[in-house]
Amino acid sequence: MFGSRPDWEDGTEYGNHVLGSCGEASWHKWRGKWWPAPLNEFKKADAEGCIQIRTTPRARPFFKVKPKEKDRPEWMVVFIIGGGLKYEIVGCMNAGEAQQRYAPTDPGGKGVPCHQVPLRDMYSVKEFVRQLDNPTGAWSRCWVHGDYPGEGNCPKCEQEQEYLATGD
Ligand SMILES: [Zn+2]
Repeated sequence: MFGSRPDWEDGTEYGNHVLGSCGEASWHKWRGKWWPAPLNEFKKADAEGCIQIRTTPRARPFFKVKPKEKDRPEWMVVFIIGGGLKYEIVGCMNAGEAQQRYAPTDPGGKGVPCHQVPLRDMYSVKEFVRQLDNPTGAWSRCWVHGDYPGEGNCPKCEQEQEYLATGD
C-alpha cells in the first residue's frame, strides 16, 4: 500500500541487518566504490578500512556509537537516515570522540550500552571525505582534464601532470 513501510523496517534483528546493508550500499554508491556485500564481518570496519556505517530508520532517528570493543576509537562513524529506497548521509563523528563525550546509555533497557550522538554535534561528511581522499591537501593540474587532488598521475588519462601546491 502507498505510504506503508517495507516490513524489514520493523526493528527486528533481520530488519536491522537489511537496513544496515542498504545504508552500506548507499555509502559505496555515493563514493563510487564497489560494495563487496560482506556477510558476518562484524569485526572489520564497514568501508574503506576505517569507516563504520550506522543506518537508522527515518521514523526514529537515533545515532549510536558502540563501546570501544565494537567500534574501534580510530574509526569514523558515518550516520545515515534511511529506509526503502532513500538514504541520507547526515554527518559523522570519530568513534573515540563519541565514546569520550557521551556517557553510555542503555536505550530500551536491553543491556546493550551505546553512546548517543546528537545531530547538532556531528561533523561534515564532505570535509571528512575531502581529507580521506587527499590527506596532504595537494593538487595537480592536467591541461586536458583539469585540477585533481593529490600528487599522482591524472586519474583520467593517467599521464604525469604538473604539481600545483599544497592547499590549506
Ligand atoms: Zn588528464
